[in-house]
Amino acid sequence: MKRIALAIGGIVVVLIVAIWIATRFDSVDLWLYRQAANARIGVSEVQLAKPGELSVLLCGTNAPLPDPRRAQGCALIAAGDNLYVIDTGEGSVRNLLVWHVPLEKIKGVFFTHFHSDHIGDLGELRLQTWVAGRRTPLKVYGPPGVEDIVKGFNEAYAHDADYRTAHHGEKMLPREDVDLVPVVIPMNMATAPALAANGLKVTAIRVDHGPVKPAYGYRFDYNGRSVTISGDTSYYPPLAKAAHGSDVLVHEAQSNELVGILEQALAAAHRPRPAKIMHDIPTYHTTPVQAAEIANMADAKLLVFTHINPPLPNSIAERAFLHGVAQARHGDWMLGRDGTLIRLPGNSTEIEKTSLP
Ligand SMILES: [Zn+2]
Ligand SMILES: [Zn+2]
Repeated sequence: MKRIALAIGGIVVVLIVAIWIATRFDSVDLWLYRQAANARIGVSEVQLAKPGELSVLLCGTNAPLPDPRRAQGCALIAAGDNLYVIDTGEGSVRNLLVWHVPLEKIKGVFFTHFHSDHIGDLGELRLQTWVAGRRTPLKVYGPPGVEDIVKGFNEAYAHDADYRTAHHGEKMLPREDVDLVPVVIPMNMATAPALAANGLKVTAIRVDHGPVKPAYGYRFDYNGRSVTISGDTSYYPPLAKAAHGSDVLVHEAQSNELVGILEQALAAAHRPRPAKIMHDIPTYHTTPVQAAEIANMADAKLLVFTHINPPLPNSIAERAFLHGVAQARHGDWMLGRDGTLIRLPGNSTEIEKTSLP
């Protein structure tokens, strides 16, 4: 027994010394890097929806307060091979790149409203879809005012596009294809048609995020399946009507109880400016329990919380955030995370919950 232990100990020592010696050589570092690069680059692009399938991927589930584990507001709808992005919050495009989402297949962007945590990465999406191979100007749909947003991003990134075309060539990166094109969705009633293409119907829904006016949610219908995304809104029952029968309702959520605790802590720490912001924000968001009530009214099969505020650094904070939801909600629900992917096979009732790493 003692001999075996000595032999194992000897082997471990020899291995440690061998690894230590090997890592003294630059060529070993490069060999290891090559193996890792081959493994990583060899990963094929992710298929978000099979033919005939509708899916929703959460590419950003945070609100403005910083959370290192969540990008800001973003969802991606896949209707078969056609992809649409809803809001482009900061950090969301990095998520899409890390997950190997085929960005050249993105056919358009839908903005819910123009708060900074929903538009921050538009310039990056403009660039990355172009670099990935997009060969038509990218349409950006939204409430009136979307023209200003698009014009500003096109101008701010014009020099960047000039440099890249000059560097990589007109054939690789045609300068005329890079730009964003605004499409205003007028809203005169509770809902408005936003798009109908390749079997996908998109409906804009008026929500209540005053003083942000107008602010929209969106409903996506495809092959007998449906996803509704609330956008930013306070508790707003008309949204339930527009979302009625949705397979998935992705709803924003803010715990005013936790925000109140932060306000008190900030005031006690003599930080009046962030305390004032905590004081102001409860009026224009929805609590998790209220979102559960909207999902019940809408008869939605699955409720997914997004736009999580305040940040939830651990499971205790998550539990506190979700107080009362299990009692209020009559149906399935879950806390959304960056990478949450819900797949809805066409003309079925199946709901497949999964996640990207
Ligand atoms: Zn927001
Ligand atoms: Zn907002």
